[in-house]
Amino acid sequence: MTAWYQINQRLFRREQAALETAQPGMSLEIRETGFRINREHRLKRECAVAAGVYSLKAPGTGVYDYRIVVLPPDNYPASPCIVFCDDPRLPMGNIDRHILSDGQACLAVPGDLRRRWKPEAGIVGFLEQFVSPFLAWQVYYDAHGCSPPWGQRAHGLRGIIEYYTEVLGIPAESNVSAFIPFIARKNPPQGHETCPCGSGLRLRNCHIAELSEARSRIPWKAAQQDLSAISQIVGNRNNGNEQPGSLASRKVSSFAESRSMSTTVAAGEG
Ligand SMILES: [Zn+2]
Repeated sequence: MTAWYQINQRLFRREQAALETAQPGMSLEIRETGFRINREHRLKRECAVAAGVYSLKAPGTGVYDYRIVVLPPDNYPASPCIVFCDDPRLPMGNIDRHILSDGQACLAVPGDLRRRWKPEAGIVGFLEQFVSPFLAWQVYYDAHGCSPPWGQRAHGLRGIIEYYTEVLGIPAESNVSAFIPFIARKNPPQGHETCPCGSGLRLRNCHIAELSEARSRIPWKAAQQDLSAISQIVGNRNNGNEQPGSLASRKVSSFAESRSMSTTVAAGEG
């Protein structure tokens, strides 16, 4: 797959200029194999990388600078960027702080991130919408030694399940994971199918409305991403690896060691 910056050089230059204006401490460049992402990772092949010092302007409290590395995927801007921390104040492998073992910042549940991402926002918009709240959360954590009362969703499997429970508007004790395959497929569920809630009823007499609502809010491809996330997390647990972040870190390592970043970052792209 040809990368986005090769296909659309004008977009690349526009992103470059916009980033320079909004975040003078960062720059978007095409980096070669071996470029240092952080102390755990180097690029395994050429990529466009936005790296440097991100200035978080917190109203009333000042400016906080953090070193980050932003990687737009090959199919950017269709899919959103991934972000690595490269800053001693952002400890790697600290799941409480939503930072995975390789330094990747866990910004949101994958399907949720994808649903909220607007391709026209650009890298600067991505930073403002997703990275800035993440860093503001980190600032609070540093100051208080605990999570702020606002902000991020739980991690990994629990985070995904919470998210779907909310969107479906069903009780937390429901068998939420059984609903996700009905959201993650292209064709809408049919009334005669058995409802995933376990009632034994046909969908038309049960949770069809909740499912249709969820399908209207979550693109099926995004749900597919969450579904594969779940199966990876569950798979890792069965292998005795309990680390909640293993899904995303596995995605990233396969990118960094990469055969093809697009297969991991843009899984489910049609
Ligand atoms: Zn039902």
